Amino acid sequence: MIDSHVHLNRIEFAGDGLAVAARARAAGVAGFLNVGYDPASSRESIALAEQAPDIWATVGIHPHDALLLADDAGRLTPDGRALLAELETLSRHPKVVAIGEIGLDFFRDLSPRPAQFAALSAQLELAARVGLPVVFHVRDAWPQMLEFVDQVGLPPARGVLHAFSGDAAAVDWAIARGFRLGIGGVVTYRQSALPVQVARAGVDHLLLETDAPWLPPVPHRGSRNEPAWLGLVLDKVAGILQMDPLEVERRTDASFAALFLERTAETH
Ligand SMILES: [Zn+2]
Repeated sequence: MIDSHVHLNRIEFAGDGLAVAARARAAGVAGFLNVGYDPASSRESIALAEQAPDIWATVGIHPHDALLLADDAGRLTPDGRALLAELETLSRHPKVVAIGEIGLDFFRDLSPRPAQFAALSAQLELAARVGLPVVFHVRDAWPQMLEFVDQVGLPPARGVLHAFSGDAAAVDWAIARGFRLGIGGVVTYRQSALPVQVARAGVDHLLLETDAPWLPPVPHRGSRNEPAWLGLVLDKVAGILQMDPLEVERRTDASFAALFLERTAETH
């Protein structure tokens, strides 16, 4: 199985992301998408990907850091334009397979919303320009996000709605437009509304992810998450879909390859 969203570079892993990856491989994880969220983590993702054939990278600016690109009125800044140019250069690295994580976060609202929209818009343009899919981060902003993406134009290579937490309308939006839903540890939580949406989507619209070091699955809540625990997510999803876990693994691996590896092989 493939962890389609992990942060091996995080300080929680104490500079030993490759050891974390090795533990996960021993538990059956055959690939990792290490997702950037600011300039440093984007560069670190590439550095990790250069050290292992089964690690790929994304580059992008998280909505929390939208002010790196735009001002609070939603205008791109000179520093922001320079950073976008740097992201474009980084995105042409052979191990970079997506732009992300980008999106809207109205839960923590760490950046002014006009800046979040501007940063999202500029990075959607970047994704279209370089022909890469996107990794979306959406929190408490589902209707606004989907409406905005429809309005400014879908990224041609599509992408994944990471840490999916939308409703049935969001599932239907994603399927109609060819986006995948990223499903992680939250699906194992007792109060989670996610199993209903996983069943609605069906296996071929899903990607598995951990978002480690965050969002550990049951029974590890309260600990630092590990990509080695991805199997707990796989088993839960297989149970919801009443499928053999091996078949869920095969189909989600194929979706990952189709979205991030096969298309970008042509782009780079
Ligand atoms: Zn993440």
